[in-house]
Amino acid sequence: ERKAALSASTGPGATADGHKVPLLANVGGPADVPAAVEAGAEGVGLFRTEFLFLDDSTKAPSEEKQVTAYRQVLEAFPEGRVVVRVLDAGADKPLDFLTPSDEPNPALGVRGLRTLLDHPDVLRTQLSALAKAAEGLPVHLEVMAPMVADRADAKAFADACRAAGLRAKFGAMVEIPSAALRARSILREVEFLSLGTNDLAQYTFAADRQVGAVSRLQDPWQPALLDLVALSAEAAKAEGKSCGVCGEAAADPLLACVLTGLGVTSLSMGSASIPYVRATLAKYTLAQCERAAAAARATDSAEDARAAAQAVFSGE
Ligand code: PEP
Ligand code: MG
Repeated sequence: ERKAALSASTGPGATADGHKVPLLANVGGPADVPAAVEAGAEGVGLFRTEFLFLDDSTKAPSEEKQVTAYRQVLEAFPEGRVVVRVLDAGADKPLDFLTPSDEPNPALGVRGLRTLLDHPDVLRTQLSALAKAAEGLPVHLEVMAPMVADRADAKAFADACRAAGLRAKFGAMVEIPSAALRARSILREVEFLSLGTNDLAQYTFAADRQVGAVSRLQDPWQPALLDLVALSAEAAKAEGKSCGVCGEAAADPLLACVLTGLGVTSLSMGSASIPYVRATLAKYTLAQCERAAAAARATDSAEDARAAAQAVFSGE
C-alpha cells in the first residue's frame, strides 16, 4: 500500500489544499541528474560544485571543464530552476590548494564564501563558467554563496556575480545564526535565501557536524533551529523573496511539512527522499502544517517537537 501511494505520488509538490512547495533535488554533479529526473524533481535546489574540485586538490579545474559539467546539469531541467552553489571549500570539505592547514578550528575559519573572497580568481572563473554554461538555455539559473555571515558578505558575492556578467538570481545560504537573525539586511543585497540546516545546526548548537558524540544537538527538530528557520522565512516573506531549505531537514517528510508551516517556499533534498516528502505533504493542508509548526516551536526539545507535530498531523 505504501508502495502504491508512492508510485501515485508524481507531479509538483503541494499541500492537500494546493499550496505549492517545489520539490528540488540536491545533486553533486551530472551523475546524480538521472535519479533527480526519475524522482520528478522540479529542478535542483542545491548543486554542490565541490565534486569538480576533488579530482585534483592542487589546483582549480579549468573553466572549460567547469562549463561542460555545469551545462550537463542545466540541460537536464530545461524549464526548471537550478540553484548552483559556488565552491564550499574548507572545514568538512578541505582543498589542499585553498584551505589553510594551520587553523585550530577549521569550521570557524576560512571556509565557504570566505575562501572565495580570499581567492577572487577562483570565484571569477566559476561564475564565468556558469554564465557560459547557461548561455542559450531556458533554465532559470540561480547562484548562491555558502557561509554568508552578514550583509557585507552578501554584497561582495552579488558584486562578484554582477562583475562576471551572470544573468541569474543571486542568493545567500543561511548557515550561520547571524544570517538568520539579520536575514532582512542580507536580503537588501540578494534575491533569495536557502537554509543550509546542516551547518545552521552545527553553528547554532556549537556542535561539530562530524563529531558523533554531539549528534543529539545536530537534530534538525531542535526548537532553536526551527526558530531560526521561521525568522529567515518571515524576513523573506516581508521582502517578497523566496526562502528554501536545502539541508538534510528537508528530507524528513514530517519535518518538511513543519518547514512548510514555518513559511519555507521550496524544499531540496537527496532525490531518494522526494517521493516520500511529496506523498506526505499532499496529506496535510497548509493550515495543519502551520499548526504543527507552532506546536513544535512551543516545545523545548527535538523529541517533544517531533511528538507535538505528529500529534497535530494525526488529529489528536
Ligand atoms: C548545509 O550545511 O545544510 C548544506 C546544505 O550544505 P553542506 O551540507 O554541503 O555543507
Ligand atoms: Mg553547509
